[in-house]
Amino acid sequence: MTIEELQKIVYNAGIVGAGGAGFPSHRKFSDKVEQIVVNAAECEPLMMVDHHLLEYHLAEIAEALNVMCDTMDAREVLIGIKGKNMHLLDEAVVRSFKGTRIKIKEIPDVYPAGDEVMLTYETTGKIIPEGAIPIMVGVMVINVETVFNIYKALKNAEPVTEKYITIGGDVPEDITVVAPMGMKIKDLLNSVGYGNLEGKSVVNGGPMMGALVDIENDVVTKTTKGLLIFPTTHGVIQRIKQPVGVSMKRASAACCNCTMCTDLCPRYLLGYNLEVHKTVRAASHGEVKNTEAFLQNALCCGCGVCSVIACQQGLFPSKLSMEIKGALGKYGLRRENNVQPEAVREVRASRLVSSNKLIDRLGIRRYVKKSVKKIDTVFTPDTVYIQLKQHVGKPATATVKPGDKVKAGDVVALTAYEDLGTVMHSSINGTVKEITDRFVIIGK
Ligand code: SF4
Ligand code: SF4
Repeated sequence: MTIEELQKIVYNAGIVGAGGAGFPSHRKFSDKVEQIVVNAAECEPLMMVDHHLLEYHLAEIAEALNVMCDTMDAREVLIGIKGKNMHLLDEAVVRSFKGTRIKIKEIPDVYPAGDEVMLTYETTGKIIPEGAIPIMVGVMVINVETVFNIYKALKNAEPVTEKYITIGGDVPEDITVVAPMGMKIKDLLNSVGYGNLEGKSVVNGGPMMGALVDIENDVVTKTTKGLLIFPTTHGVIQRIKQPVGVSMKRASAACCNCTMCTDLCPRYLLGYNLEVHKTVRAASHGEVKNTEAFLQNALCCGCGVCSVIACQQGLFPSKLSMEIKGALGKYGLRRENNVQPEAVREVRASRLVSSNKLIDRLGIRRYVKKSVKKIDTVFTPDTVYIQLKQHVGKPATATVKPGDKVKAGDVVALTAYEDLGTVMHSSINGTVKEITDRFVIIGK
């Protein structure tokens, strides 16, 4: 298979990065690579999607990895997984990797082990230059569920119409489900018996980097990975809810410039010139001429360590950093003085944040269950809302009109192949009811 053929298969199946912002996966297959790194870190507490996939589908994932390896001429595949999760891997399948290019690579049980810069370092020893992407050091980083979606596309030309999601937090039992794309989150939670949300809020994603769910309007998308329910008064919810303006005002009153936020920043520790205490200082004191203090935030991954672990004043430097990063992207402002760190900082090993410490600091120990159950409920929503923008790049445009009959798996919207985007498919058999700015709405 050629790279172009693989790209077409991945595009037609509508595959985007299932573990993050939804980068269209076919664009990752743009060049040959030396190493493929599979991100099996799942470092946000309470999340179990990738681990369930590795537990139940390791052989299929390996099959897709072999095709990717051949097509991209990669020397090896490194599955980066924490030691505490190794027991989930089928021993017979792991034995079959002996002498092949697929290797299991143990990574430390720290946060944010799944950040692609950190994961690349922990699995390959390479440090991605500031402002660069893994391909620039010959590496492609890909998420477990994304590889599984590629397997389904290669094997059966199956498009992405469903999503693995962990539902957990302040609930009696944490579960992983497979939900149809476009199902309302409210309906999904009702279907599993967790629909009573009085006094509670739902986070889409992990407790560190997740966003609040708009329960009336949000739907399952290609990047929905976790739905975590917490009391609205809980610190996790309060941190997410705090407006950036409030964070800035509090910083101007309470920041003592102690530098702890920088000292513990995982990217600073990898040698990056990202000193977030300088951003806090410049932003909260109106030092608008200190351009480097703003431009450096392009290097931030939004992990939140500076807010949750480092700052003893209860400030949220990551909010400022990510707000500024967003603005830099929006206005196309680039940092020109990026460098290639020669080595990680000497103090790095002693400053890594263990998962246990993170769980305690977040105040979520009581929500950590002994196990997370995978349930095989088949959800049958009457209506699905296929979101036109669930990925990085240009939104998709509807290819159907109200009244059209569609089957599960039919294309209902797409972004042109030449543009950055993907293809959307119906997840049910039904009739197109309406097309809005945000959705293709399909009813049974
Ligand atoms: S850790 Fe907190 S108090 Fe210290 S410099 Fe950073 S924002 Fe300011
Ligand atoms: S969120 Fe904070 S700790 Fe994480 S990379 Fe950004 S500045 Fe560093």
